[in-house]
Amino acid sequence: MTTPARVRFAPSPTGFFHIGGARTALFNWLYARHTGGQFILRIEDTDRKRFHPEALQDLLDGLRWLGLDWDEGPEVGGDYGPYLQSERLAMYQHWADWLIEQGHAYRCYCTADELAQMRDEQRATKQKIGYDRRCRYLTAEERAQKEAEGKSWVVRLAMPTDGVTTFHDAIRGDITFDNKEMQDAVLLKSDGWPTYHLAVVVDDHFMEISHVMRGNEWIATVPLRWQLYKALGWEPPIFVHLPLILKPDGKGKLSKRAVRSPDGELIPVFVHEYRERGYLPDAVVNFLTGIGWALDGETEIYDRETAIKAFSIRGIQASPGRFPADKLAWMNSVYIRKLSTDALLEALLPFLSTDLGVDEETLRQDARLRLLLPDVQERIKKLSDAAPWVEFLYADAITIENPKDLIPRKTTPEQTIAGLTRSAELLAGLETWDEASIEAGLRDLVGETGLKAGQIFSPIRTAITGKRVALPLFISLAALGQAASVERIRAAISQVPAADG
Ligand code: GLU
Repeated sequence: MTTPARVRFAPSPTGFFHIGGARTALFNWLYARHTGGQFILRIEDTDRKRFHPEALQDLLDGLRWLGLDWDEGPEVGGDYGPYLQSERLAMYQHWADWLIEQGHAYRCYCTADELAQMRDEQRATKQKIGYDRRCRYLTAEERAQKEAEGKSWVVRLAMPTDGVTTFHDAIRGDITFDNKEMQDAVLLKSDGWPTYHLAVVVDDHFMEISHVMRGNEWIATVPLRWQLYKALGWEPPIFVHLPLILKPDGKGKLSKRAVRSPDGELIPVFVHEYRERGYLPDAVVNFLTGIGWALDGETEIYDRETAIKAFSIRGIQASPGRFPADKLAWMNSVYIRKLSTDALLEALLPFLSTDLGVDEETLRQDARLRLLLPDVQERIKKLSDAAPWVEFLYADAITIENPKDLIPRKTTPEQTIAGLTRSAELLAGLETWDEASIEAGLRDLVGETGLKAGQIFSPIRTAITGKRVALPLFISLAALGQAASVERIRAAISQVPAADG
């Protein structure tokens, strides 16, 4: 039996929700769901200069779009709130005072100028750069004097100055840091706001977080945090540092810049862009699950339920994982093919509506569109790829950009014109307008004219769509309708260029 975990995703909303952050959120969510525990969303908004309310909204929208529902946090509440750090200041101040009383922290009165001067001196004398702890060793009288002068102060943690700090990471094992390398970090700033270090420890403790699962770039903050737990007399959570996500070529960390897949496609790094470009949330979740974790080392396509059942911390790899940009389009197309026609239509509507300039309700009711969807479904990798396949239905007339496209290889302009003319006649005379009748009729023409199937069909395809590559011909004609089809074929006849024209 696994104990239900309480895990948190604790982003600082300073910019658009990044796909790497989504992977962190997802692994926490999977673990919460696997253990029947809680997934908590906590907003770390203490860096007021960098906090953006729009970034918070983008984050909430992104998590919802991905289907990563949180059990506690903004908008849903919970028993351990508030879930915005900016609303928890009194708690941080209380514990900072407590640490001072216990002798684990101290007020530091150094001004920015003094600190700058200190660093200059350290540089000049080739000492290690860092706070020299001068306020840690002030006498009671010196302190009283600074207070009497009304000097402002920050609270710093009194770190051990020798020895080592060893902590355990569930993926990486024991990790040891030399205390000499560490600083008396600021816990509370002069404006009464906490730094990340204090806020995160207080919150993880009082929110009863069992596992801290987050990006590997945070590992260097653990020793300080470990000492803070010790000073507070609290039990630290289990640390689980997820493998770094590298760029597709393995050279460096995935950053805020879009990357290219091997076939040259630009792959976005912000979650909202995945939505806007027509990736499906289930596909993105499946894709992200595979960065640093694997179901069985073989199966790449699996649904959320399967991932939840199988997910384990033991299964998370320690080494950095390449961002598998080459798999995204393929995975998305697999998920697109799994959709029912109704679900596909609903997913496509916003994209088609924008691209075709037709309102969603008209498209929803359009039987012609529905007829073509199974064929569209097989050809698109993203929802945004659909419009070019069906735009011929919504054009008043077709412009054939390159009239030479009307003439198939090894066919003369005369043969092309003859084929189109006979096709128009035949199609105009059909009594039943459906895929089967159209196909039967046009195949008869093959025998009658002595032209090959492609020599007849390909000019018709170009005539009705303006393109050489389009959906299967008979169903396209069926969808377009008899009158429009015949009219477009007739219109194309006059555009067939003369030989070598
Ligand atoms: N607020 C940190 C961030 O922006 C979270 C680090 C942590 O999870 O402890 O990612």
